[in-house]
Amino acid sequence: MNILILGSGGREHALAWKIAASPLTDKLYCAPGNAGIAQGAECIALDINDHSAVIGFAKEKRIDLVVVGPEAPLCAGIVDDLEAAGIKAFGPTKWAARLEGSKGFTKDLCKANNIPTAAYERFKQAGAAKDYVRRQGAPIVVKADGLAAGKGVVVAQTVQEAEDAIDMLFGGGLGAPAWEIVIEECLTGEEASFFALCDGETAIPLIAAQDHKRAFDDDKGPNTGGMGAYSPAPIMTAAMNKRVMDDIVLPTVAALKRAGAPYKGVLFAGLMITGGGPQLIEYNVRFGDPECQVLMLRLMSDLVPALTAARDGQLKNFDLRWYPDAALTVVMATKGYPGAYGKGSVIAGLDDAAQVEGVEIFHAGTMFDKTRADGARILANGGRVLNVCARGKTVREAQARAYQAVDRIRWPEGFCRRDIGFRAIARETTGR
Ligand code: AMP
Repeated sequence: MNILILGSGGREHALAWKIAASPLTDKLYCAPGNAGIAQGAECIALDINDHSAVIGFAKEKRIDLVVVGPEAPLCAGIVDDLEAAGIKAFGPTKWAARLEGSKGFTKDLCKANNIPTAAYERFKQAGAAKDYVRRQGAPIVVKADGLAAGKGVVVAQTVQEAEDAIDMLFGGGLGAPAWEIVIEECLTGEEASFFALCDGETAIPLIAAQDHKRAFDDDKGPNTGGMGAYSPAPIMTAAMNKRVMDDIVLPTVAALKRAGAPYKGVLFAGLMITGGGPQLIEYNVRFGDPECQVLMLRLMSDLVPALTAARDGQLKNFDLRWYPDAALTVVMATKGYPGAYGKGSVIAGLDDAAQVEGVEIFHAGTMFDKTRADGARILANGGRVLNVCARGKTVREAQARAYQAVDRIRWPEGFCRRDIGFRAIARETTGR
């Protein structure tokens, strides 16, 4: 098969790594890709927001499957456009992608189908939203309805903070003014990321992972796209996985099918495991980044038939096998991230780092130094730049290997957290 991956981050590098290893893969392309992806796929300078350019390329190269990494093109309907042009694509249609594209849509779907989620109200006006916040009290959570790259959620500890968040979102604090916001009850518990592969009718669970959203150690500092992840997630026992499938994922897939918008692709449920059981925080309509990286390291089965079966509606008798080993990824980011940061600093020592047992390094934001004739020098080209991943028998062993590799990377302009996986390691240590 000729396969085209859309995207340029660590998630797409992990997908490319796994897809390139499939005996079914003939030629692998990635648009636009990055310096790490270029080691296993041909990177193409395509604007993935330009659907007709993507369709033109896919036709020219006789692409058999397009795998869409990020949410923006999915919410913009790239799967609908590719399929209409006769090109198979893995991912949800624009209508089904509203699970991520509109928080209000998802909350209403949960309410209508008794799917456990935080109590909420939707608002189009600041005045009514503030009245609601004053009635409910704090802590309370204020969210923009649409895609906001993780910046549209404020967990307000005081009523004042919530009112400020309402003004910020309606006042254009994220660029354009929010057209609608959701205000919801603040849940407490431990978060986990749950993934299922869906074919419109059937859903099969993948493994769960946990990530660290805050920039600094001890889960302090500003929220980021994710500074590290690990799997297995100790909180996701077999019983909890079943509950999430039965109470959350399967009712969602059934509801979308009934609504005439069958969900195909990977469904990522952000969960809060509360004292009363799992609650849905949000849906994402693609693999998590950096969770995908640890999922791909633990996946024993060939990914390509799984993606194809999801696209073709053939998951019913499908089975995926996983390595029992743990996997962990440490994100290395440019100093300043998630705020302003520079680009173009030189990263050295990657080959040496990759020699550590069990280690795999995925690139999230890198480019080749074009000023060098040999093109061998790697430069930072983003906020999150590298995913230093490792497998091990335990999360502790995977963590030790990942940091051993991190310490071989010579990149003074970068930083990472030093405590990824600490909750799981504490559980491994105490045996609880
Ligand atoms: P979201 O973009 O909806 O996943 O929210 C980003 C983060 O905000 C989540 O990972 C949670 O840490 C936090 N969050 C969102 N909704 C809630 C909630 N209802 N209660 C507590 N924390 C929340």
